[in-house]
Amino acid sequence: MFGKMKWGIHPDTHKAPTEGKAIESHELPGKVILPVRQHIGAPCVPLVKKGDKVKKGQLIASASGPVSSNVHATISGTVVDVSDQPHPSLGKCLAIIIENDGLDEWEEGLITERQWEKLSKEEMLEIIKNAGIVGLGGATFPVHIKLNPPKDNPIDTLIINAAECEPFLTADHRIMLENTERIVTGILMIQKILGVDRVIVGIEDNKMNAVKTMSNALTEQKLEVVAVPTRYPHGSEKMLIKTLLNREVPSGKLPMSVGVVVQNVGTAMAICDAVRNGIPLIERIVTVSGSAIQEPKNLRLRIGTPFAAAIEQCGGLKSAPEKLIMGGPFMGMTQYTTEVPIIKGTNGILAFTEEEINDGPESPCIRCGRCLEGCPMGLNPSMLSILAQKGLIDEAINEYHLLDCMECGCCSFICPAKRKIVHYIRYAKKMSALSAQKGGK
Ligand code: SF4
Ligand code: SF4
Repeated sequence: MFGKMKWGIHPDTHKAPTEGKAIESHELPGKVILPVRQHIGAPCVPLVKKGDKVKKGQLIASASGPVSSNVHATISGTVVDVSDQPHPSLGKCLAIIIENDGLDEWEEGLITERQWEKLSKEEMLEIIKNAGIVGLGGATFPVHIKLNPPKDNPIDTLIINAAECEPFLTADHRIMLENTERIVTGILMIQKILGVDRVIVGIEDNKMNAVKTMSNALTEQKLEVVAVPTRYPHGSEKMLIKTLLNREVPSGKLPMSVGVVVQNVGTAMAICDAVRNGIPLIERIVTVSGSAIQEPKNLRLRIGTPFAAAIEQCGGLKSAPEKLIMGGPFMGMTQYTTEVPIIKGTNGILAFTEEEINDGPESPCIRCGRCLEGCPMGLNPSMLSILAQKGLIDEAINEYHLLDCMECGCCSFICPAKRKIVHYIRYAKKMSALSAQKGGK
C-alpha cells in the first residue's frame, strides 16, 4: 500500500517557541464546558442537572453503549446549565457547564494509592474504563476497548507513539522530559494488560533529549526507544508501524490485524494516574502556539476550559487570528470561535495571523505528480480531488481508494497549484457517509 519509500514531507517544525519551556499550570477557569461526547462512539448520558453541586473527579455523564467513555467534573462548583454548546469537532453538542466555586475539591473517596502490580488485567481495564480515558493523541478512541482486542487477534508488540510529528505541537515532548516516571509506569501497565514482551517507544529525532530521557528510564525494563526520522506524518499509526516493524496494515484494517497496539505517550501517563492514584481524566497538556499568540506555551489545562481562557493564559492574542485550529496545522480542525472548550483530544490550540496563512488562490492541476510522490498511502490525490469535485464518489472509492486517505494534508502542502486537495477529499468522504446513512450503500 505504501508503494514507495519516499513518502511524507518536511515542513518547518515551528516547535522552537514552546519545546524548551516547562509546562505551566495557571489559574483555573471561571467555568468549564464539558460535552457529553469527547470520544469516538455514543454520547454519554448526563447524571447531573442545573443547580447541582459537583466536585472535581465526580462522574457527571455516564458512558452509553459498547463504545463510549465517561465524563467527569474537572472543577468543583455548580452546574449552571446542561444544553447544546459549541464543540470543537462536532459543531454543537450537549454539554454540562460548571461554574467554579474556587475550592477545587476532590470527590470524596476517589483518590487512592494502589499497588497496581497486584491488580489483574480485568481490574486495570475496569479502572481505565471508569476513568474515562480515551486516546489522547487526538483519535479519542476509548482505551479500555483498544487494550482488550479480540482473542483471535493476538498482539505481540506495543508501540508507544511519541512521534509528535505535527508542526508547532510540543506537549508530548515536554511530558516525556517532565513526567517520565508516570509515563514509564503507564507503559508497564499497558504491557501487563496486553501481555506482550515487545514494547517500542517511537520518538522523532528532532527530540533527542526526550529519546535520551526515555531510554535512560526504560533501560532496566529492557524496553526499546527508537528515534525515527523527522518526517510528517510519522505519527500516524500506519507509518510508525511500517518504520518500526516493517509491517503494513492492510487497507481498511486496524493495527491489531498485524499484531500491534499503538498508544499515545500522553495516554500512558493518564493510565498511570488512573490505575495507581485513582485520578480520572480531568486534565491534559495543551500546546498553545502560532503567530497570533502573544506568548506560546504548553499549559496543564482542565478539560472543559474555554479556548479563550487558555489563550488568555498565554498573554492573549496579538491580533484577531486569521485562522484558529484545534490540533496541528495539518490534521487539526479549524475553529470559528474561542468559546469552544478543550476536550480530551485537544493536543493544541493554534492561532495564526494572515501573513502566516497566506493560502492564496488555487489553480487547475498541472499534473506535476508531486502529490503522488508525497502521499504516504500511495494514493493519487490529484485524481481523488478531481473526482470529488465532479461528484464521482463511487469511482473515487472503488478505483482510487478514497477511504484509505488519512487526511494528513501532505498533498495540499506540496501542491504548486495550491489545490485544496484534502478539502475535496473530506467533502467526498462526507458525501459517501451521508449516502451510506440514507441506505444508499
Ligand atoms: S491527505 Fe490523503 S491523499 Fe493527501 S497525501 Fe494524505 S493520505 Fe494521501
Ligand atoms: S501536486 Fe497539485 S498540481 Fe501537481 S499533480 Fe498534484 S494536484 Fe496536480
